[in-house]
Amino acid sequence: MSIRFKVILPYLLLTLVVAITGVYVVTRLVANSLTERLKNQLLEAGRVVSDTVARQEIKHIEAARIVAYTTGLAEALEKGDRQTLSALTKPAAAGLGIETLILVDELGHEQLHLLRLPDGSIQELDGSTGAGNLAIVQLLLLNSDPTSLPRRGLGQDPTSHRYYHFTAFPVSANGKVVGVVVVGTSLDVILPYLKSTSLADVIIYGDNGMAIATTLAGQAPEAGLLSALSIPRDAYDKALNINDIVMGENILFNGRSYSLARGSLRVGSDKIGVFAVVLPMNFVIEAGSDSRNTYMFLFTLVVVGVVLIGYVISRIIINPLNALIRASQAIAGGDLNQRTGIRSRDEIGVLAHTFDEMSGRLQERTTELEKTYHTLEQMDRTKISFIEVSAHELRTPLTLVKGYSQMLASKFKDDPELMALTDGILDGSDRMTEIVGSMLDVSRIDSNTLKMLPEETNLGVVIARVYKVFKEGLQERNLSLNVQGIDGLPPVQADPDLLYKVFYHLLMNAIKYTPDGGRIAVNGHIVEEQNKREVEIVISDTGIGIDKEHHELIFEKFYQTGEVHLHSSGKTKYKGGGPGLGLAIARGIINAHAGRIWVESPGYDEKTLPGSKFFVRLPLEGKKDERTEPRTQAA
Ligand code: ADP
Repeated sequence: MSIRFKVILPYLLLTLVVAITGVYVVTRLVANSLTERLKNQLLEAGRVVSDTVARQEIKHIEAARIVAYTTGLAEALEKGDRQTLSALTKPAAAGLGIETLILVDELGHEQLHLLRLPDGSIQELDGSTGAGNLAIVQLLLLNSDPTSLPRRGLGQDPTSHRYYHFTAFPVSANGKVVGVVVVGTSLDVILPYLKSTSLADVIIYGDNGMAIATTLAGQAPEAGLLSALSIPRDAYDKALNINDIVMGENILFNGRSYSLARGSLRVGSDKIGVFAVVLPMNFVIEAGSDSRNTYMFLFTLVVVGVVLIGYVISRIIINPLNALIRASQAIAGGDLNQRTGIRSRDEIGVLAHTFDEMSGRLQERTTELEKTYHTLEQMDRTKISFIEVSAHELRTPLTLVKGYSQMLASKFKDDPELMALTDGILDGSDRMTEIVGSMLDVSRIDSNTLKMLPEETNLGVVIARVYKVFKEGLQERNLSLNVQGIDGLPPVQADPDLLYKVFYHLLMNAIKYTPDGGRIAVNGHIVEEQNKREVEIVISDTGIGIDKEHHELIFEKFYQTGEVHLHSSGKTKYKGGGPGLGLAIARGIINAHAGRIWVESPGYDEKTLPGSKFFVRLPLEGKKDERTEPRTQAA
């Protein structure tokens, strides 16, 4: 994952978590406050209903009192004079705006029943409505106390089946109760009024919890609806006996949710029933979802804003990092001129500044090293040309020395003493000729002017030539030489004279660095690696060995391990000194043949004599030299 996402993702997640939590908390608070508002509204509506019913009751009592105290009414009631009763009460019934007025005599018989029609006219009903059986009437008659307080209750008119709020008031004459005036207002009339004053729908429950009237479904609610709105008896009793208005359950009606509060209908000391006020919850739900939508919109805006800011911040942080990466990659790729170009003073700026300084220093050092390298190259070229020139210059006097020595030798052949001296001069000049030859070989290898004449070369013949040279030296030093597997090798395409030099130097080294009595072996075999067939010749000895750190360096010209002054002279003497050119020549020649040469040795130790193994590999296909120039003999 790129660092940009590592920065943005946690930031985005955090923003989302904070925003979602925020929206959740805010919408919950809004919903709670809306619910609280609804509750308060319901409780307020309940109080308005109670007050309205109480005002209604005052009207009832006033009307009942006026009727009860009408002169002559008590006497007419006692006598059962319906005509007089009718004449006395009708004007009051019309004037007081009473919906129904019933007069019951002492025996509980209904003497008069007046009904006010919607047009304001008063109708006198025949026959009993059963009002005499109302509990409140019976109570007053039973008490037979002219000072009894008025009683109230809900009752159903048996003929119209309408429910009424009745108020009963005793009619007395001569200190005794002679009948009861009942004033009633039907719930069908009260309920719309209650609804308009409380601004809530209203349900009225009868004394068994049965809903008897409601504004929820207009003027004439179905019986099915009423029974659906009814509550159990115990719930009714509970609501009746609590002095306050309490929240009830939510109800579902016509697919809408309503919230509901109940209270008892109290008129004076009488609890005449239970009512409920009902308010739709949709405004809570709608307001809640409105606010949720608003907050969701704000939330989305905030998240988009935060992500944009995050993106910008990440760019501010990451762009310099990218510049740093680009510069470091360019420098790793060798372009030391690259700089980050970051100028800020923050941590990345400090890092970039340090990086630029480092790159600058690296560039300076590299330039210095390049200069030094060129100087060294120049010096090396000078050295090579010096070697070349001196080798060429030494050849002529050497030839003269050798020629004159041979002449002296033929002259003094009868004088053993002088003969020994001339032999010494001859040996020395031979050795010098050899060294000069090696110097010329090295200069040719270095200047890429080594000439090869490849031909089918039998390695056994080459090794036999070398052996011939060192046979005497091996015997003198009591060294054994074991040659194995060479004769069976297929011929290689190579220059036999150059290969001769390779094995000459390798065998000479094996002899020089193995103490007397040691063993030297030359083994040959074929190796196949990565579809390549090669011959491998291994020259191993039981000599002083070579430390690992020198394994590569000894193939450099003039490189010698140990201290030069310890070296003795002579080419087969133990630790006999040499010019340090043998292995450089061997590697140059083997490389020119597309082969490989390397050494393996556990390390240098003159006591334990771990020995060394020099490996030479030559491709079996051989390497054809395209040059046609004739070869000039080196040594
Ligand atoms: P030199 O003329 O000194 O022998 P070479 O290039 O032939 O030069 O060898 C370089 C050095 O490698 C030698 O000085 C010697 O220290 C080390 N060396 C070469 N061959 C052997 C060997 N067979 N055992 C131990 N040391 C060796």
